[in-house]
Amino acid sequence: MNTPLQPGNTIGVLGGGQLGRMLILEGRKMGYRFVVLDPASNSPAGQVADEQIIGAYDDCSKARELARKSDLIIYEFENIDPLIVEGLEKEKPVPQGSKLLATTRHRKLEKEALVKAEVPVAPFVAGSGSRDFQNACEQIHFPAILKTATGGYDGKGQWRIASREIAIDIWQETGLGTTEQTWILEEEIPFVAELSVMVARNDIGETRTFEPTLNIHRNHILHLSLAPAPVEVSLREKAQKLATQIAEQLQLVGILGVEMFLLENGEILVNELAPRPHNSGHYTYDACTTSQFEMMLRAVTGHPLPEPTVKTAAVMGNLLGEHQENFLAALPNLSPHIKIHWYGKNEAKQGRKMGHLTALAPTVEEALHLLDQTAIWEPYTNIEKQMMDLLKGVQNS
Ligand code: ATP
Ligand code: MG
Repeated sequence: MNTPLQPGNTIGVLGGGQLGRMLILEGRKMGYRFVVLDPASNSPAGQVADEQIIGAYDDCSKARELARKSDLIIYEFENIDPLIVEGLEKEKPVPQGSKLLATTRHRKLEKEALVKAEVPVAPFVAGSGSRDFQNACEQIHFPAILKTATGGYDGKGQWRIASREIAIDIWQETGLGTTEQTWILEEEIPFVAELSVMVARNDIGETRTFEPTLNIHRNHILHLSLAPAPVEVSLREKAQKLATQIAEQLQLVGILGVEMFLLENGEILVNELAPRPHNSGHYTYDACTTSQFEMMLRAVTGHPLPEPTVKTAAVMGNLLGEHQENFLAALPNLSPHIKIHWYGKNEAKQGRKMGHLTALAPTVEEALHLLDQTAIWEPYTNIEKQMMDLLKGVQNS
């Protein structure tokens, strides 16, 4: 192993969001200094960094300033032009690398990498333009989901197409016919649950996986993550093994969030990858011996990677703009077993992630109950209840 980056050195962070903020809070314990590049002043990460550079990610002179001030550079989100990262790589080490970014921010390249890693994915066809779309419709079973190759998040840039008959109408609504944009059309998977696994790898090829979480979304945004996922141990191990296969195929250095679909027959399909800490991994901050943030920093700075043991069951609940009022009202009576994370964003907007709560308890059910008692969120829907019931019956195949 090379000598690890020493305390006192400066890590440059591309992106000033909450992931950067939590990385910095963990990295400061290790003695690193941080400089953040983000277009917004007073960004969540900027507030806790030693220095912030205000500028667009595609502003070459700002990127160069970041390189000049840093000993090592990381990115905390993927909507950055890989060419900018490639430029930075010429000046300072960027352990995650531009290649990982280029692959994971492009759904077609990402799917191809997953197929190469011999990981099961939903049947899909990639293309661009109307003719490709018509061909894709012949090959894919409906219902299907059309996704733009780049730029989508939280369900944006996606259209559900219920049947072949209405496919062309929806195609016209998307406006994709008038652009050269690449997209993928993939079959809708009747999953019983969504799981995710965080996997880390360093440059000497050590890999570590965290316990999988079960993720519940509302309005296409992550609502709750239950950890460890309340499914059979052998299913959790299968999910971790898939994540490790992907990390090795991609020659990952850093951390990767692997989103998966669990089917009723115990099959697991990989949905997508995030080359950075992931919202579903926030539970690790409070519930594991090593958080996803420390793990990523250890991986990129050349430290050995510890086994991230789970100390206690946990449920993480996201606080969106629309939950702020209820959260503040619940604060005085909040259980001491609920950890508070608040990102310091200027304005509470509908759907914007303002913070999160992590309830810690001996079992996932008890942790879930602690969050229920806060009455911050809408009660469970029937679909969510059905899902919890269905899950109990899923066996590894
Ligand atoms: P995020 O930023 O929240 O991860 P995203 O916009 O990058 O989302 P995906 O993760 O691909 O996009 O899709 C968002 C959600 O839509 C998934 O978590 C899942 O609930 C649903 N979804 C996506 N693809 C499929 C599919 N093939 N079958 C069924 N549901 C799907
Ligand atoms: Mg996703």
